[in-house]
Amino acid sequence: MISYDFEYYRPETYKEALEIFQEKQNEGKNPLYYNGGTETVTYARKKIINTGALIDIKAIPECLEFYEDEDRVVYGSALDLNKIVEKSSFGLMGNVSRKVADHTVRNRLSLGGNICGRLFYREAILPIMVADGEFIIAGTEGIKKVPVLEFFNKKINLKSGELLLQVEIDKKYTDFPHYNERKEKQGKIDYPLFHLVALKDEEKIRFAFSGICPYPFRDLELENLLNDKSKSFEERAKYAADNLPGNVRNDMFGSSEFRKYLFENAIINALSELEGGN
Ligand SMILES: Cc1cc2nc3c(=O)[nH]c(=O)nc-3n(C[C@H](O)[C@H](O)[C@H](O)COP(=O)(O)OP(=O)(O)OC[C@H]3O[C@@H](n4cnc5c(N)ncnc54)[C@H](O)[C@@H]3O)c2cc1C
Repeated sequence: MISYDFEYYRPETYKEALEIFQEKQNEGKNPLYYNGGTETVTYARKKIINTGALIDIKAIPECLEFYEDEDRVVYGSALDLNKIVEKSSFGLMGNVSRKVADHTVRNRLSLGGNICGRLFYREAILPIMVADGEFIIAGTEGIKKVPVLEFFNKKINLKSGELLLQVEIDKKYTDFPHYNERKEKQGKIDYPLFHLVALKDEEKIRFAFSGICPYPFRDLELENLLNDKSKSFEERAKYAADNLPGNVRNDMFGSSEFRKYLFENAIINALSELEGGN
């Protein structure tokens, strides 16, 4: 139970959602979009967040849409992670989403919540990063479509009141070979020590990571080095571990040395699987 009073809205269009957000913002009610609600309820209970208005986005058609044709795959931001596992022909998206939490929890966790929430793992963004996906965002100036790699830097770069409606990827990426490896301290439903995601296109292998640094990332410079065929897999893995874009996490789940060791092995596994011949 949330121990303070708040207003609850369930708009049926994104325009209405944006209007309610503005109105409640002007009233000083610190409104929040409400998707699966797991994070919001937990934080509101603990009074980490204090909101006077929740705007449930699960009746907005664009947010619930799943669409796939020969050119693109579109995921609505209110789809829960189990739906994404079931529906999408993008195997990598399914493989990554099914590793987040357990089946019961995934019925609640939404794609939008995973990407926009505070918990930094945001694992569902990884396949979207390697597939050069795009965010479709609604704001007071209309709808914009922006490349994920430009608009996501450690976290999604939404302005106050902006709503992530959908994520879109080019269908061609669903056919490329891919690999992912997740390591946990104990059980499979733990948060990851790290999660490596790799996808091989016509030219190179793309990589994205979560858990190793305190944010998910795809680093193009690091990626080029990982594709340097003049070096052995081991040399590339070591180089990557020594040149991560941020500090390697060091906490009660695993030391930074342990994480780096597992990470190097995972790089070698990914290169063996997708490049082969070393
Ligand atoms: C038991 C449990 C296990 C978990 N395990 C993992 C894990 O292994 N890996 C991992 O990556 N994550 C994990 N998570 C984190 C989870 O994915 C996030 O907490 C996520 O925010 C939950 O989604 P939700 O739909 O319930 O979010 P909500 O509580 O609805 O929203 C979270 C935040 O995102 C904002 N938001 C949501 N959707 C949108 C949108 N479309 N546009 C703009 N803002 C939006 C909300 O306003 C809110 O601030 C776990 C969470 C739980 C509860």
